[in-house]
Amino acid sequence: MAYEDVYRRSIEQPEAFWGEEAKAIHWHVPPQQVLDYSNPPFRRWFVGGQTNLCYNAVDRHLAERGDQLALVAVSTETDVTRELTYRDLYREVNAFAAVLKKLDVGRGDRVVIYMPNMAEAVFAMLACARIGAVHSVVFGGFAAHNLALRIDDAQPKLLIAADAGSRGGKVIPYKPLVDEACAKAATPPARVLIVSRGLDAAEPKVAGRDEDYATLRAAVGDAEVPVEWLESNEPSYLLYTSGTTGKPKGVQRDVGGYAVAMALSMRTVFDVGPGQVMFSTSDVGWAVGHSYNVYGPLIVGATSVLYEGLPTHPDAGIWWALCEQYGVRTMFSSPTAVRVLKKHDIDFIKRHDLSELKYLFLAGEPLDEPTAHWITDALGKPVIDNYWQTETGWPALTLLPGLDMKPVRFGSPGFPNLGYRMKVIDESTGEDVGPGQKGVLVMQPPLPPGCMTTIWNDDARFLSSYFSHFKELLYSSLDWAIRDEDGYTFILGRTDDVINVAGHRLGTREIEESVSGFPAVAEAAVIGVADELKGQVPVVFATLRQATDEPHERVQAADGMRRTVEQSLGAVARPARVYIVNALPKTRSGKLLRRSLQALAQGADPGDLSTLDDPNALEEVKRALQRGPEVGS
Ligand code: AMP
Repeated sequence: MAYEDVYRRSIEQPEAFWGEEAKAIHWHVPPQQVLDYSNPPFRRWFVGGQTNLCYNAVDRHLAERGDQLALVAVSTETDVTRELTYRDLYREVNAFAAVLKKLDVGRGDRVVIYMPNMAEAVFAMLACARIGAVHSVVFGGFAAHNLALRIDDAQPKLLIAADAGSRGGKVIPYKPLVDEACAKAATPPARVLIVSRGLDAAEPKVAGRDEDYATLRAAVGDAEVPVEWLESNEPSYLLYTSGTTGKPKGVQRDVGGYAVAMALSMRTVFDVGPGQVMFSTSDVGWAVGHSYNVYGPLIVGATSVLYEGLPTHPDAGIWWALCEQYGVRTMFSSPTAVRVLKKHDIDFIKRHDLSELKYLFLAGEPLDEPTAHWITDALGKPVIDNYWQTETGWPALTLLPGLDMKPVRFGSPGFPNLGYRMKVIDESTGEDVGPGQKGVLVMQPPLPPGCMTTIWNDDARFLSSYFSHFKELLYSSLDWAIRDEDGYTFILGRTDDVINVAGHRLGTREIEESVSGFPAVAEAAVIGVADELKGQVPVVFATLRQATDEPHERVQAADGMRRTVEQSLGAVARPARVYIVNALPKTRSGKLLRRSLQALAQGADPGDLSTLDDPNALEEVKRALQRGPEVGS
């Protein structure tokens, strides 16, 4: 079917279109109304319908595909591979749900999950969904401070954590981070459930709070827990993402709309159906992990491959070996991961039989052309750049090979996905810009099913963050874009102070807050600078409380800043370079001129400086860039 026809129908007759698509999932009670848009921009999809994500992802497949693989969890960190059929998954998810019930978790309660890509993370998510608890997975690489912020916002009844993660053979104990986060949080969870893989033998227990999963799992045996039927618009999960302030935003997802969007995108975008295999290399802590490691593939009865480990261990062919072994049809990864692989011999790809592999999807950050060409040549398959956000939950711009395969245009993630009304508009006038003109990428509400419903506990912030930028009520993606004559959209980067490091979204202000937490620092400006491997890296310009020309004092200060950021925000946010200056360029009203700093740091023209307060500050920055960063550890 032609994309244009299906897309037009999704836009012109949304209720007929989505009403039809809703039949792809199981409803305990069918919806009474497809769309309620009486309170824009809030919308409710499939009103009155009752369903359950876990039922759709697991129970529903038992009769026909109980013995088919549902989940393959491969860890090259622990050298353990777990292959679970739908029947196995049903058993484990029920047991996990029984444990949650024992810990007094029920419908509407929040559960924070702090685990790496291990099978139990998937069991925990599905178990929450089964009993109507709202999970919030926090990426295992996040530091205690980040975890504490999320705990205080979500106010979970329970926190589930792995004893440790592992990266390149280096064990990272999670338990001390959990303890620190609980100590920092104003409202720590009453209970902490530890799923131990024996990686951190020293892990101490807090009496009355900590529980051991294996012990409770043994006690519940093969218990079965009934599914809790939820109204389509009840929250299913929260996923925190960085904004422009230090406080993360709890992106809230519904139940029915999300399930329908997953089923539709698996078919039309990823071209994966029952019995076929999808391998996403994402972490379960990200939006891609939620949608295409867990819910998407399972809802359609496919097999999902989950991977814990480096893409280069035991060698740079590991992902392709898995594709060959499991007959992966669709693979999903990130440009950064491909740039890592690009440093290795192409033969690591070529030596594998990839006859089953049809596509590689890449998302999360701009896909540069050299990387796109390299991987396309290496695989000899379509490489499909797709654009989305934690907020959208599924691709907003993409090609849809499940419908019809349009030619790839390098540098572009393609066309609006089904149900997404997208425009590129002028930042100040709000008018549509013409082909080839740069503007802000926006979406006309109502947003399609699957996209966020609000920010957890903060409708006002949902409105002010996304819908307050233009006269017309529009969702701002906060990304710059250009659309060419043929309708291919190109993404040019963020309009706000958010940077993208190896696909991880970081607010420059949260890094600034952290840098400023180091006692020697008077003030700091953080920008994202282009990096060959990671897309962007954080770079710090800082003034010290006591200016010094002593090299070792400057190095000490720079080291302190790097350490502070790493401890509070995690290794991914660690500044790549620190420049110590005597003044920072600001406007007369005291706003940091981050865009000018960024331009200078990338050797470009600093742009409009008419609002610059102190020209010396700019000269300072130029001198610092010539001198080079403070080099420390
Ligand atoms: P996150 O919510 O962390 O996935 O980050 C979403 C942001 O990543 C978007 O707003 C974009 O700035 C960027 N992004 C995601 N996918 C792409 C893509 N295919 N091309 C360019 N930028 C992308």
